[in-house]
Amino acid sequence: MADDAPTLPPDTFATRLATLRARIDAACVRHGRNPADVALLPVSKTFGPDLIREATRLGLKRFGENKVQEIRDKAEPLADCGIDWVVIGHLQTNKARDVARLAAEVQSLDRLELAQALDRRLQQEGRALDVLLQVKTSDEETKSGLAPADAPALLRELARLDTLRVRGLMTLAVNSDDEAAVRTCFASLRTLRDQLRQDAPAGITLDRLSMGMSGDFEQAIAEGSTEVRIGSALFGARSYA
Ligand SMILES: *Cc1c(COP(=O)(O)O)cnc(C)c1O
Repeated sequence: MADDAPTLPPDTFATRLATLRARIDAACVRHGRNPADVALLPVSKTFGPDLIREATRLGLKRFGENKVQEIRDKAEPLADCGIDWVVIGHLQTNKARDVARLAAEVQSLDRLELAQALDRRLQQEGRALDVLLQVKTSDEETKSGLAPADAPALLRELARLDTLRVRGLMTLAVNSDDEAAVRTCFASLRTLRDQLRQDAPAGITLDRLSMGMSGDFEQAIAEGSTEVRIGSALFGARSYA
């Protein structure tokens, strides 16, 4: 009997990545999406350079972080890995200089003042950044992001800043067990994107929708996500000690 007992695969980063990718692909198939159209953004916040290095050996090259200080700490020991650091957390304007030096992309752009600070620093560095606008799709006080109604005006201003290439929108759904409420958040981001596209400034195509995390990425894929941001389902539980 023991011979027939199913053996659990070892709990390594590689097996967690394979399991996760299989779940993403299965959700795509269930919802009529092409798996090639849903990217995985591993979120490495709180995890150290050794684990991130292991992840790069499996082909991962972009990593999401929500604190600029963590990017500063990790960029140097991982300088040989060719990582694209993606800022996904609330950004203070006084961090613009570090972001302009170290990040490849910002998904949490939520106000003009921040965009202008980034633009100034990027010009000094002679660099450009891909950006997503973070939009608030739930009423939770703790979530940042701009109100959907403010998106058209911000988009028009951003079209004038050469250093920022607007690629799409990002959101966090309400933190809830109510699946319908979660899906409503994701659906509203897609609807907003479709509306914004109708009179988007020239050159801004808004192809990307960054939505879905470890607990809700399947619903996000159902609603059109092009990029899921996954931390704990890949790296394991975080400890903030
Ligand atoms: C931490 C974080 C994630 C990933 O969260 P998990 O639940 O661990 O997958 C995604 N997006 C943002 C903005 C985050 O801060």
